[in-house]
Amino acid sequence: MADIIRLLPDSVANQIAAGEVIQRPASAVKELLENSVDAGASLIRLVVKDAGRTLIQVIDNGKGMSETDARMSFERHATSKIRNADDLFNIRTKGFRGEALASIGAIAQVELRTKQHGEALGTLLVVEGSEVKTQEPCNCAEGTSFSVKNLFYNVPARRNFLKTDAVELRHIIEEFQRVALPHHNIGFSLHHNNTELFNLAPCNLRQRIAQIFGSNYNERVVPVEEETSIVKIKGFIGKPEFARRTRGEQYFFINERFIRNAYLHHAVQMAYEELLPQDSFPSYFILMEVEPKSIDINIHPTKTEVKFEDEKFIYSILRSAVKRSLGKYNISPTLDFEQETSFNVPPLPKDKTIHAPVISVNPNYNPFAKEELDKIPSSKEFLKSKFAEKYFSPQTAQGTGEKEFGQHVEKGLEEGAEQKKKNHQLHGRYILSHIKSGFMIIDQHAAHERILYERFSDMLEKQKAHSQQLLFPQHITFNQSDFELAKELLSEMRALGFDIEEFGKSTFIVQGVPAIVPENNARQLLENLMEQYKQNLTGLKFEKRESLARAMAQHTAIRPGKTLSEQEMDALVDELFACKMPYSSPSGNPTLITFSLEDLEKRFKK
Ligand code: ADP
Ligand code: MG
Repeated sequence: MADIIRLLPDSVANQIAAGEVIQRPASAVKELLENSVDAGASLIRLVVKDAGRTLIQVIDNGKGMSETDARMSFERHATSKIRNADDLFNIRTKGFRGEALASIGAIAQVELRTKQHGEALGTLLVVEGSEVKTQEPCNCAEGTSFSVKNLFYNVPARRNFLKTDAVELRHIIEEFQRVALPHHNIGFSLHHNNTELFNLAPCNLRQRIAQIFGSNYNERVVPVEEETSIVKIKGFIGKPEFARRTRGEQYFFINERFIRNAYLHHAVQMAYEELLPQDSFPSYFILMEVEPKSIDINIHPTKTEVKFEDEKFIYSILRSAVKRSLGKYNISPTLDFEQETSFNVPPLPKDKTIHAPVISVNPNYNPFAKEELDKIPSSKEFLKSKFAEKYFSPQTAQGTGEKEFGQHVEKGLEEGAEQKKKNHQLHGRYILSHIKSGFMIIDQHAAHERILYERFSDMLEKQKAHSQQLLFPQHITFNQSDFELAKELLSEMRALGFDIEEFGKSTFIVQGVPAIVPENNARQLLENLMEQYKQNLTGLKFEKRESLARAMAQHTAIRPGKTLSEQEMDALVDELFACKMPYSSPSGNPTLITFSLEDLEKRFKK
């Protein structure tokens, strides 16, 4: 019988491998930026057209490449960064696999211009679908410039898979920020379609955070610092009062590489413990330095996941560092020293002396004692926990049994109609409601979320909404990535009742908010809305309107803890049952649970 196994040609092998590394324009951006950092550049410019579909260009003033290296750089497994297997455990550069350029060259038209310092001439190389089209000497600046044109031009499936420009651009901005944050000593700029989105001069970490996320971050964060033989930690964490209801800016870097890590995230969250309102998330920008050999970064194609040798230690050190910093800067009520003169301090009784407030510490507490470490779950145990589940998967709608359940309730309601309706509020969160066959408990937040969601969806469809004018128009400035995203949403926001206009480079002016929203803090409303919207975008894949309606409902629904009057409860229950889908919130949580009299009877019998 004939043999049928064949080796694939390089160009095909490269294309297949490219799928792992380059999933979207933002992945190419990440690889190119990281190469420039590895080349020792002090200035890196990123130019993008059409969210990276037509052009991604990265220009650096790094060390450049020789003619031969320029040619070699596009070969698979060609790297200047490691030489043997041992080097894999001592990685100090961003790259090391030598596959990014081979991948990009396989699925785009790439122009490389590069010149080493002190050389008279540089090299121009044009690569298209893994084939070298041109290689010749050229006049160019010292350093390297990569132009990646028409990404996925030969992989239509990939090209079609790309999301809208707004979404792809947001991914690019996100990657840009992940590289720019830890490398604050390097100057970065980002242009999109001839608009300058960022121009970041070299500075310190705190300034870089403010450059990227807005100058108000300066007062929103406090430093965290810790040095041990295992890990060095530096960075900034958000003050609890600025925590957001949805995940905000959360950045971990290991040896200046951005990583995702639910386990370490948990350590930070635990340090905040009671300081945070329920279901809110702190911002953090934490840089950790460890011995390269104590981690493995070779476990994930995009190197955003890392395995630690001493994970429990790191967990514990991180948690106590964050705790300490919160204690130092935050637990005691903050005094604003500039305004202190206006304080009216009552005179002290004569026989009293003042003691400085002390935070009690147990001097014998050793976070590394075995008993203490035993209390910390390993990352493996942790991954099985509820917390991890929540971190990784946004809630998915659960449809099972809903219909049957619904009929049951409706029947109950009908039967109960003649009975005098009476609702009671429980613990400021639930409404206990009689139905003839027993009773039901309604989650007030989930129920209101459902009601609002249906109304907002309706408004978006009919493009008719009432807006309530603000007494004082508000100027709201976003960071660039949010601004770009918000711009795409303007017509939808107007359909919801926002009276909003673009006003300058990254600012909106808001003159009115949706009339059905009880809140009049337009800034908070918009900020939370964007935050929620971003969450919805990354988590579940909804279209724009759907995402926005969900975000509005999630944010504006009455919170648990709000006391409701009898009329309010009646209205809520009525409106809930006027909904198309009353039995679950838009995020899929049940809005109510019923108990039948039979259930009760059973519980009271032995
Ligand atoms: P890796 O970064 O894993 O080594 P790449 O495919 O990204 O693999 O790059 C291959 C090689 O090309 C690098 O090892 C480096 O020597 C060279 N190179 C890539 N980009 C640049 C740049 N901007 N400046 C100088 N050299 C570069
Ligand atoms: Mg690389």
